[in-house]
Amino acid sequence: MVFTSALLVGSFLNVCIYRIPRQESVAYPPSHCPHCQQRLGPLELIPLISFLWQRGRCRHCAAAISWRYPLVELLTAILLTLVYLRFGWSLDLVYYGGLTALYIVIGFIDLSTMLIPTELVVGGMLWVTAYNLFTRQAISNWLLGGVLGCGLFYVIYVVSRGGLGGGDVRLASLLGLALGLERLPLALILACISGAAVAIFLLITRRANGKTPIPFAPFLAAAGYVAALWGEAIKLWYWSWLIS
Ligand SMILES: [Zn+2]
Repeated sequence: MVFTSALLVGSFLNVCIYRIPRQESVAYPPSHCPHCQQRLGPLELIPLISFLWQRGRCRHCAAAISWRYPLVELLTAILLTLVYLRFGWSLDLVYYGGLTALYIVIGFIDLSTMLIPTELVVGGMLWVTAYNLFTRQAISNWLLGGVLGCGLFYVIYVVSRGGLGGGDVRLASLLGLALGLERLPLALILACISGAAVAIFLLITRRANGKTPIPFAPFLAAAGYVAALWGEAIKLWYWSWLIS
């Protein structure tokens, strides 16, 4: 039930990922094939199933459908189900569910366009700030984290001269606001390790060279998600491992 609803959310996130960078409305017009413009029927809108059933091709013009569609649907369903298992039916489910959806959209937009839409990040900041004020979080649990994320990435932004974009600075600020002083460093370490691992893999397999730009938002977004859900557990595990 939760998984199925989350698949539908994933289907909507696909629309956001495709349309937001093109400055199109996410509500209108209804879903259509980007190749032949044919409007999709209800059967073609079923997440995952329709992709498998149509063998990854448009039913009307046979154009290949991007692997991104089923991937985003499946990923959204899995990540949101984990949020549900972690928090149950609660305000936190709505808050972290919304944040997760936003991270997915930002990550995939950066992956396909190398841009991070500012309005999405600012929207996320408002979302996080509203939650933190409403639940009366300590300043160190959010505001100071935001300052640290922004300051740290601004320095890297200036030093790296374009290796890191302004969008990454804003996204790191959002992560800081969402995670606070204690969990932000963990997320940044996770993002750097996973980003470096993927970069090395791409270099070794010659899918990239030293000049290929690699988007950083997917790693920041993934690390922000992991740290938000399991930050405390990872910290405990790390310290106990260090002491023993
Ligand atoms: Zn088509």
